[in-house]
Parts: sequence; structure tokens; C-alpha cells
Amino acid sequence: MNVYIIGAGASGLTSAIILARRGFKVHVIEQNKKVGKKLLLTGNGRCNYWNEDQSLEKYHSNNIDMVKIILSKSKDLVLPFFDSIGIVPKIINGYYYPFTNQAISVVNALFNTAKNLNVNFIYEEKVKDIVCSSNFTIITDKNSYKAEAVILATGSKAMPKTGSDGNGYELAKKLGYNITKIYPSLVPIIGESKYLKDLEGVRSNVILNLIVDDNLVKQEMGEVQFTNLGISGICSFNLSGEVNQYLNEKKKVEIGINLVPWFKQDKKALIKYLDEAEERLINYSLSNILEGFLNYKIVNVILKILNIDTNTKWENVIKEKVVNLLLDFRIKISGTKDYDYSQVCRGGISLKEINPETMESRKIKNLYIVGELLDVDGDCGGYNLGFAWMSGLIAGESVSKEK
Ligand SMILES: Cc1cc2nc3c(=O)[nH]c(=O)nc-3n(C[C@H](O)[C@H](O)[C@H](O)COP(=O)(O)OP(=O)(O)OC[C@H]3O[C@@H](n4cnc5c(N)ncnc54)[C@H](O)[C@@H]3O)c2cc1C
Repeated sequence: MNVYIIGAGASGLTSAIILARRGFKVHVIEQNKKVGKKLLLTGNGRCNYWNEDQSLEKYHSNNIDMVKIILSKSKDLVLPFFDSIGIVPKIINGYYYPFTNQAISVVNALFNTAKNLNVNFIYEEKVKDIVCSSNFTIITDKNSYKAEAVILATGSKAMPKTGSDGNGYELAKKLGYNITKIYPSLVPIIGESKYLKDLEGVRSNVILNLIVDDNLVKQEMGEVQFTNLGISGICSFNLSGEVNQYLNEKKKVEIGINLVPWFKQDKKALIKYLDEAEERLINYSLSNILEGFLNYKIVNVILKILNIDTNTKWENVIKEKVVNLLLDFRIKISGTKDYDYSQVCRGGISLKEINPETMESRKIKNLYIVGELLDVDGDCGGYNLGFAWMSGLIAGESVSKEK
């Protein structure tokens, strides 16, 4: 039986290896000149390929129960698979990277394994259509191919310059699949505050509170990076999918930044700390005290907003106002950057369209769908590649078991 895989990214390469190991003739059609272009960019070039915390809350989908089935079926297969392609991990707080710290090691391991198993790579051809009758005819911009089974692994439309330009959704639509609403996710957030310019470039450890129609809906902790447009960094990325979803529902979206996360939301403790600091630090102004634990640009903005002079002492300000601002620096959110900047997409082909035990389409026999093309995305931390490997492994195993 010959199997065609469309897309030589994380999920497609995984399926290719599993199938070739089972003796199948595997062809991979890739529109780029090489495999794994997006993979090379992952984890800032280090490829955070897995996370040992595989809680369901790390994943997002309109059909999270299906994700649960996929996880339970495949999460134990991923690390043995990496071992089998020769990747030695470096594990930092449960986050997996290749020991070399280089994404290219993962790309080369996948490619060399596939090559050694005689996987046939067809480069620089873009699949334009898939016609299904008793078998499949795959039509590219240059050729057409006959296949007995097809695995659709074209990725999402996040960072299209890597090749995942969203055409997979079009292919899927032509085949009759339902696609849920797509949003950029894991992407910088855009805010409306005249003080952002003053804060540009500041990095600070914070708690981010996502507030929708005045209700707290999600919280993330970590290092935020202020930009002239808004906020960036992992903790803000992890809110960006929700930001887009709520804005699309025409809700009021704000982010309340707790600039002093070690005080949690405890106003009294913060006031007590500042009272004691004033006693201890003779002749210090409020600005001097705040600069002991906050970036000076943040301090300047706090003073500016509250109209406090740099020499003013803590005992002479309205304490409640200072503390409220430190615990809840509010930014109205107007959107996020677009797909060119997003690491993943929220949404995709509905999981209702596939059997999560096999990744086979419920509509078309012998057609499998894997990876980010599906309506699953994860938090930063190895979850998106995690889903790509897991779904790729299940599809590879299922095709080989079926035939
Ligand atoms: C900058 C960046 C950093 C990231 N870092 C991490 C990280 O550290 N950890 C993590 O878990 N996730 C990370 N991700 C997300 C992760 O890379 C993706 O979720 C994952 O690569 C998706 O795998 P995939 O196989 O579904 O699609 P892709 O890896 O995107 O592969 C799809 C392939 O299909 C090809 N293709 C598309 N359409 C066609 C067609 N019609 N014909 C032929 N070929 C086609 C594309 O050229 C592409 O090569 C990051 C993403 C980005 C952009």
C-alpha cells in the first residue's frame, strides 16, 4: 500500500517514520525545498519539543474530550519515539529540549531516520486538490499522484513564511470538513494605553489577569515584555488565544498587570512593606523605594499616572491609589498581532470530524488528519509540538494496523 503524507513538518515526519518502519511505501509532499522549516524556529531555535506535565488544561479545543482521548492514547509514546530517533533530551523544569540545544538536531534526526527508511520526499510541490473515489488522486501544481491512504499534515496558518500558509484549511473545506473559527494564538497582545511607549523594552516578572467584562477569567504568571504596542512574552502569549476569542464575541477585554506578584493581591501586606521601607530607608522618596524592586521606567509611569513628584515621600501620597496601581495596572486590549507573528492558531478542523483513536476522518475512509491543522492548540512549553508528535504517531500506527 502506498501512503502519501502532505506536509513535512513535525506531525507529517512522525507519521512517515512510523509507517516506513512498518514496511509501507511512504511519500511525503512538501511545498518547501526542505523539511521542518517551522521546526527550526521552535523554542528560539532550541526546540522545546515536549513537556512532562501533560495536563489537559494545557490544551485548548472546542472538543476537549477528544483531546483527552488522544492524550491518553499517545502521550507515553512520544519519549520512546524520540529515543528511537536518537535524540538525547535536556530537561529543564519538565521542559524537554534536545541535549544539543539546537532545533536542527531534531529536524536532522527526523529527516535522517525517514531517509534511512526510504521515505520518498517530493519537494517544491504544493498540493492543490485531493480527489477521492475508491482511491485518492493528489493533484499538485506540477504532478498528480495516486494514493491508497493520505495523511493531511499541512499545519495551520501561523507564521505562513514557514510554509504553513493556511491552504490546508482550503483543502479540507473542499473535502467537506468543518473548520472552527481560527485566531492567531501565542502572539503579542496589543493594548490601548498612552503609557506603553514609556514602558517599551521593559521586562518584568508579573501576574497577568485577563479580565473580560469586568470578570477575572484567566491568570498567568511570568516575565512580561512591554512593547510600544502592548505586551509580549510567554505569559502574555498564553492569554492571546482567549483575547482574540473574547474580542470576537465583542466583549470588553482588559489585562490587569500585578507588578508586584510576590504580594499576590494582598494590599495590606504591600502597604505594610512600604510603611516599613520608609522607616528603614532614611530620606528615601516613594520613587527611591519603588526603584528597589521595580524597573525605573515602571516607577516613572506610576508617578506620572498618579501625578506624584519624584521627591514625594510615601507618607505624603494616597497610599490606596499607589497600591491599587501596583497590583492592577490596567490596559484595555484591542487585539493581538496577526498570523505573521503567531506561533500557532487557535481553531482548525473540528475534532468531531475525526476518530480520536485513529486520527482517521469520519467522512472519508483512509484519510487521516494530524497536527495543528486540527482544532487543538496548546500553551507555550512544548504542547503544540507535543500534539503534532502524538497525532502523527497515532495516525502512523493506525494506518499500519488497518492494512
Ligand atoms: C516561532 C515559533 C516557535 C515555536 N516554538 C514552539 C516550541 O518551542 N514548542 C512547541 O511545542 N511548539 C512550538 N511552536 C509551534 C509548533 O512549531 C507547531 O505547532 C508545529 O510545528 C505544528 O506541526 P505541524 O506538523 O502540524 O505543521 P508544520 O510544522 O507547520 O508543518 C506543515 C508543513 O506542511 C507544508 N505544507 C502546507 N501546505 C502544503 C501543501 N498544500 N502542499 C505541500 N506542503 C504543504 C508546510 O510547508 C509545512 O512544512 C512554535 C511555532 C513558531 C512559529
